[in-house]
Amino acid sequence: MKRSALVTGASRGIGRACAIALAREGWPVCVNYLERRDAAESLVSSLRSQGFAAMAFQADVADRKAVARMVRAVSETMGPVELLVNNAGISHQGLFQDMDDELWNRILAVNLTGARNAVQAVLPHMLSEKRGAVINVSSIWGLRGGSCEVAYSCSKAAVIGLTRSLALELAPSGIRVNCVAPGCIETDMVRALGEETRAMLVEETPLGRLGTPEDIANVIAFLASDRAAFVTGQVVSADGGFIV
Ligand code: NAD
Repeated sequence: MKRSALVTGASRGIGRACAIALAREGWPVCVNYLERRDAAESLVSSLRSQGFAAMAFQADVADRKAVARMVRAVSETMGPVELLVNNAGISHQGLFQDMDDELWNRILAVNLTGARNAVQAVLPHMLSEKRGAVINVSSIWGLRGGSCEVAYSCSKAAVIGLTRSLALELAPSGIRVNCVAPGCIETDMVRALGEETRAMLVEETPLGRLGTPEDIANVIAFLASDRAAFVTGQVVSADGGFIV
């Protein structure tokens, strides 16, 4: 049975770890990237050298047509997409008062509409086969408020709404939709906040460390697998106890 997994924003960070974890679970994986072609291709080469099927594809998830093209290319090359991980995301720190239309719209376009675009592109196949799984990457800031991260927080809360509503709508078609809400994870996104904020986040995390991309990839790999066959509509936090 030919089938494949698509991970958006997979050239680095959580998406990269997720692509590796899914390849190890036997999924042919498409590594979607926005700009870092070198990183995406190097990941694909490394996966192939380990005997896994993988391909890279450039697409801005906010661009519905580009996403549709990517899903067609993946289906033709590796098999229809039966697992979608909506991981691509951007964040921004700043006062709500200072946020202009462009920034607000871009954050929602990538974090929320990007997931919508990808789900709509993979759904025709999933609906016709009555199987498939979607895993959205939200955030602890979608579960609780994030000061100076209002747009990001809104977009991640919306991803939880998308997950729950879609899970109900698609359950009769045998398609599972779940969500992971990572805590503070050691990636470029958190590194960009600076050393002082990083130390504060470690302090605030009961397990006393930042998470690794693999900590999140492991949860995603579980949700993607048949071991989670009866799990849908759930938000699984992997946050070292940040929200308890
Ligand atoms: P990251 O910045 O390293 O990775 C984000 C990835 O998304 C990058 O590869 C980037 O190129 C890609 N991307 C951004 N815009 C895109 C677009 N328009 N189209 C396609 N790809 C695009 O950060 P990360 O921590 O690995 O983030 C992965 C996901 O996890 C994001 O959705 C983020 O919001 C979420 N998250 C991260 C943390 C954390 O602490 N790092 C916490 C909670 C949630």
